[in-house]
Amino acid sequence: METGRTALILGAGIMGLSTAWALLREGFSVRVVDQAPPPNPLGSSVDHHRLIRHAYGAQAGYMRMVDDAYAAWDELWAELGEVLHVPTGVLALDETRGAWIGESRAALLGDRHPLEDLGAGDIATRFPYLSGEGVTSAFFCPEGGVLLADRIVAALARHIQAKGALIETARAAKVDPERATLVLEDGGTRSADVLVVAAGPWIPRLLPAVARRVTPSRQVLVRLAPPAGAAGAWARAPMILDLAAEGGFYLVPPVQGTPLKIGDHSFSLQGDPDDDRTPDPREAGRILDLARRRIPGLDRFASLGAATCFYDVEPDERFVVEKLAPRSWVMSGFSGHGFKFGALLGRRLAAAIADPARETAIPAWAAGQEPVAA
Ligand SMILES: Cc1cc2nc3c(=O)[nH]c(=O)nc-3n(C[C@H](O)[C@H](O)[C@H](O)COP(=O)(O)OP(=O)(O)OC[C@H]3O[C@@H](n4cnc5c(N)ncnc54)[C@H](O)[C@@H]3O)c2cc1C
Repeated sequence: METGRTALILGAGIMGLSTAWALLREGFSVRVVDQAPPPNPLGSSVDHHRLIRHAYGAQAGYMRMVDDAYAAWDELWAELGEVLHVPTGVLALDETRGAWIGESRAALLGDRHPLEDLGAGDIATRFPYLSGEGVTSAFFCPEGGVLLADRIVAALARHIQAKGALIETARAAKVDPERATLVLEDGGTRSADVLVVAAGPWIPRLLPAVARRVTPSRQVLVRLAPPAGAAGAWARAPMILDLAAEGGFYLVPPVQGTPLKIGDHSFSLQGDPDDDRTPDPREAGRILDLARRRIPGLDRFASLGAATCFYDVEPDERFVVEKLAPRSWVMSGFSGHGFKFGALLGRRLAAAIADPARETAIPAWAAGQEPVAA
């Protein structure tokens, strides 16, 4: 149902596009502005995949949002006519005796999620391509999987345009939250009844108030292809969260023809998203070193290259979805874990924009602090 209200969104990553999708459903007329046509390979939302998992350490608020996130993705799949998620389950391994794995286990069991405890000796038996050396604690959770990120962003962009949204390629030089207005680099302006700034790691340079809380962070990841004899087993592998004293790594299995991907858990908190993205071979080597002991024969994997991407990091990894001014919102601070909540965050923010009675609950809920009614 048309409301006659207009929305302007800066950023066609998963957050901006999801909010655009949801605002269209709320009856808004929507314009999205991005410096590149989606999917922008320099945005945080894009390469092949992003993980969705319930294991969240002590951050039970985010664990509890994951079922709602799956429900929001299901609504999107129904509209797109395709499911862009591959279930894999989660294998969590720890050799630090740190708190994260125990807190995850307690929270998951407390909310009755299925979970299987594993000993170090079970790892290689169950997953023959891995070594359990040094593991002090481990579990397998059959829930969780891989979201096919670049395909989701591309499909969502096509879908909202088919529903009447305008996606304009232009770079914003300035944001005026009070007037719900963008000033473009060519001097033009765009305004609407409501403005949503969802500009990923570029936000700190546009909004000084956010710059004090959110830091762009350059991250390097490595793409590999397992040797032919192991490819079938790896294609059925779970996602792996490996916690080690030197920081550990995450691994995305090669689902639906995508590369196997390895990245690290630590934040560089350095760099600018407009800097040269060429990865230093030493950075890629350091990522591989993190995984070498866990994956015997890693050196036989074919390298498909390294890539540099950017997180927008909030110190406690809590999302910043807040009102900037009476008619403007910002979506930021998604750190290394926002994608899984994209469709849900878009739906909830759009519902709050359509019904201001819902507004006040959004910031704390998005920060993972408390539940909010659907
Ligand atoms: C390597 C990596 C791995 C990750 N892994 C996971 C994971 O496994 N699970 C998970 O849930 N999350 C993960 N994340 C986090 C998640 O991907 C991000 O939180 C999410 O994609 C952020 O989306 P966004 O829409 O806010 O930002 P972006 O995707 O960066 O979108 C912002 C858009 O704004 C545009 N823009 C910026 N400035 C301007 C301007 N001035 N004018 C015009 N356009 C502009 C950009 O071009 C861009 O398209 C990962 C992130 C990275 C980088």
